[in-house]
Amino acid sequence: MNVYDELKIKKLINAAGTYTVIGGSKMSETTLEKMNEAARSYVEIKDLQKAIHERLALLTNNESCVISAGGIVGIYLCLASAISMKYKKQFKHLKKSEIEKAEIIMFKAHRNPYDRSVNLIGCKLVELGYANTIDIVDEETLENAFTENTCAVFYLPSTSGGWVAPGALDLQTTIQVSKKHHVPVIVDAAAQLPPKSNLWYFTEELGADAVIFSGGKYLKGPQSTGVILGKKDLLDWVNLHNFPNYDIGRMHKISREELVGIYNAVKEYVQSDEDEERNQANWMVNDLIQEFSKSNCFSFEDSYPNEAGQPMSRAKMIIHHSDISLEHVRDYLLSKEQPIYTKIDNGFIYINPMMLSIDDYRIVKNSLLELQEEYK
Ligand SMILES: *Cc1c(COP(=O)(O)O)cnc(C)c1O
Repeated sequence: MNVYDELKIKKLINAAGTYTVIGGSKMSETTLEKMNEAARSYVEIKDLQKAIHERLALLTNNESCVISAGGIVGIYLCLASAISMKYKKQFKHLKKSEIEKAEIIMFKAHRNPYDRSVNLIGCKLVELGYANTIDIVDEETLENAFTENTCAVFYLPSTSGGWVAPGALDLQTTIQVSKKHHVPVIVDAAAQLPPKSNLWYFTEELGADAVIFSGGKYLKGPQSTGVILGKKDLLDWVNLHNFPNYDIGRMHKISREELVGIYNAVKEYVQSDEDEERNQANWMVNDLIQEFSKSNCFSFEDSYPNEAGQPMSRAKMIIHHSDISLEHVRDYLLSKEQPIYTKIDNGFIYINPMMLSIDDYRIVKNSLLELQEEYK
């Protein structure tokens, strides 16, 4: 019996995207096999980490790589390591007073629920500007924010159209100014894939010191992994603090299976055909647009970029029938024999092809046709 059936847990079709609340993404069969293989033997964890880190750095065109127990842990370890780098002391040897006076600069427009790690570290957060464009922060504002206690600048990049608020200084200028002050820039790009080139764009092209990607989103690795890429100086400190060392990373355990899983997932992602993935997504979106173009219940529009601002299309549902509500569509799709999970975002419901296989897509389309029948 399937374990989810045994537990009476519904298996969902993911028409929403890489949302962590439903599991983010699916690992490939090969990744699952490699994880199985990995679980069958003991290995020296530190040797395994070293081998995987070296290979992933090379594959992603970066100086260095560290695997963390999730994207947020990656952010936490990078920010804490920036403080260690400044004081040249491992985090566990820092005095409370040293941590408390350490400052991390962040634009107010970038505040989000994932930045909790700053509070956990116990250092100061220096917020700049506003979460809108009424008074965009200029270079001078950032310039003046640096003090002798500044340890890092934390940045959340966005492509226009994503959920990140405007109002921050652009990343290029932020990096240039920070470099003058010899302060590392740490970029949270957890959901900023595709494009593949983002794996090296922030660090190698723009010069950020570290970038963090969630392993369980578009990379299709284990949900509980994160990939930190960037400069050796900072990442060497991250390594010192990371599991299994007895420092702040020890509470964020990463198993050998997960290490092998994310290794294989990144390898597959680097080799994947981006054009083909984009074409398949476009095909699904266009198919929905055409199929429902004459419906008086609802129709679809191409919505680009996606919720994270990434270059992938979603189908945005436009409801025409006054008896159909957003919640009704969402609940109807969830109530099907093969429940379909969708997201309501900014007052619209979307069918996101990002994580849909062709078979999944046919089920989604049939369910939408059935819903339409009910209102015809
Ligand atoms: C998902 C996400 C994270 C967290 O990554 P996890 O791997 O789920 O810990 C952090 N920042 C942003 C912007 C995200 O979208």
